[in-house]
Amino acid sequence: EAKSEGGSACRLFTPAISEQANLILTMRHRMRRALEENQFKAYFQPQVDLATNRIVGSEALARWIAPDGTQVSPGEFIPIAEEYGLIDEICVQVMEDACRWTAHWNTLGLGDITVAVNISGRQFHNSRQLVEIVDSALTKLRLAPHLLDLELTESAAMSDPENASRVMRMFTDRGIGCSIDDFGTGHSSLAVLKRFTLRTLKIDRSFVKDVTSDSNDAAICSAIIAMAHELNLKVCAEGAETPDQLEFLRAHRCDKVQGFLIAKPLPPEDMERMLRAGIPEALRGPVPAN
Ligand code: C2E
Ligand code: MG
Ligand code: MG
Ligand code: MG
Repeated sequence: EAKSEGGSACRLFTPAISEQANLILTMRHRMRRALEENQFKAYFQPQVDLATNRIVGSEALARWIAPDGTQVSPGEFIPIAEEYGLIDEICVQVMEDACRWTAHWNTLGLGDITVAVNISGRQFHNSRQLVEIVDSALTKLRLAPHLLDLELTESAAMSDPENASRVMRMFTDRGIGCSIDDFGTGHSSLAVLKRFTLRTLKIDRSFVKDVTSDSNDAAICSAIIAMAHELNLKVCAEGAETPDQLEFLRAHRCDKVQGFLIAKPLPPEDMERMLRAGIPEALRGPVPAN
């Protein structure tokens, strides 16, 4: 038991640690109950196509919403869930939410609306379960595979590139897209990158943050965009918070963008409202020529 929790068994006998172990057990118990009660939900952050200013899809981001309305962020619970082997069950809830809503939005007649779901590195190692989760969500919720994208962080992909490449191929063979998340932060080997069957590179928001004031960040963003296009990949920038950042990305032919400027991750009802409203507020008005 102790071993499967990633700790070493003997450490549990020291009093301080046993107190800690109690806390951990409480957390695990809370998470299990939250799973039983379906408290893990997908929020949706719109992604805009910079060529048209239209919302063409979203990224589904996990939220743990307790019955009293308290929210826990994925940065807190995903690492714990990974450690306790609960990540697959959380993924099922988020994936099903993502597919259910996206299938519904595709009935609105607004064109193809995609959804990107984050997958943890652990799940790529357990690929049999992952494939089963993805296949059954698509079938159960009747979402076309090409509308789903799976995001794997660059650091997870590069920690076991052979396996990542094999698993990506299983998904791309089914028509599902694969993306590298947080690109630029994870020690990519370009020799490895070129062998992945990818649809999209996502520029990490740390490069977007100062793109209009730091010439190094500007160079990195434009180089990632150019490289991706040479490799026939799409590029999505994350974390656009200002119009200037967005116009930089547009001028450099970035394909898609998401960020607080357009919207924060939204509950599905609010995402749907944005989809129905057409061009997002932040993108209305004259589009600067470039
Ligand atoms: P990520 O996939 O890189 O997601 C982007 C994060 O940046 C999200 O944080 C989002 O809310 C935030 N963000 C988006 N636009 C902006 C912006 O303009 N400014 C700033 N400052 N932040 C912005 P969030 O939702 O807290 O998620 C954090 C990370 O947790 C995600 O990073 C992803 O790696 C992980 N995650 C989220 N949902 C899941 C999930 O269902 N499964 C797994 N395995 N990981 C998940
Ligand atoms: Mg992501
Ligand atoms: Mg990211
Ligand atoms: Mg990130």
